[in-house]
Amino acid sequence: MFETFKPTWMVKTAYAISPAALKKAGIRAVFSDLDNTLTAWNNPNGTPEMRVWMKELHDAGIPLIVISNNNVRRVSRAVKSLNLPFMARAFKPLSFGITRARKKLGLDPDEVLMVGDQLMTDVCAANQAGVRSALVQPLVKTDKWDTQINRFFEKRVMKQLKRQYPEQMKWREKIND
Ligand SMILES: [Mg+2]
Repeated sequence: MFETFKPTWMVKTAYAISPAALKKAGIRAVFSDLDNTLTAWNNPNGTPEMRVWMKELHDAGIPLIVISNNNVRRVSRAVKSLNLPFMARAFKPLSFGITRARKKLGLDPDEVLMVGDQLMTDVCAANQAGVRSALVQPLVKTDKWDTQINRFFEKRVMKQLKRQYPEQMKWREKIND
């Protein structure tokens, strides 16, 4: 039952995922969670490193699309300065938002990577949608109340996953280390 929450990769941050590594893995589009993955309350415009990464993806022709459970108004306001396309009301952990965005691009599931900081929403949604996923560490440690509930379960799920897959469930510097 824990496979539902198992990420393909665990990398410390989204900007550790290079266009070259993505191409090598056959990935043609990156979908990403917003809160605590690309931006944080204390960094609403993204850190310099994050912005460099976004430009690198753009220059490599790899679309980066924000997949968020928040409503259109909130997401559009949040991504305005990042200048990224987005899919709001994605209903993660359901596959709905990811699959809709993927079909819009005309890509197969194995050509998409979902990046996010939560096993219970981002990674679970990726697995439901049949796309690969990269779990990243949250940019800041403080979470909203609904995320705190997810974290409670996440800790327990992570413990089980680490027990079952000790080799794969390790934080790495790159996606195909
Ligand atoms: Mg998040």
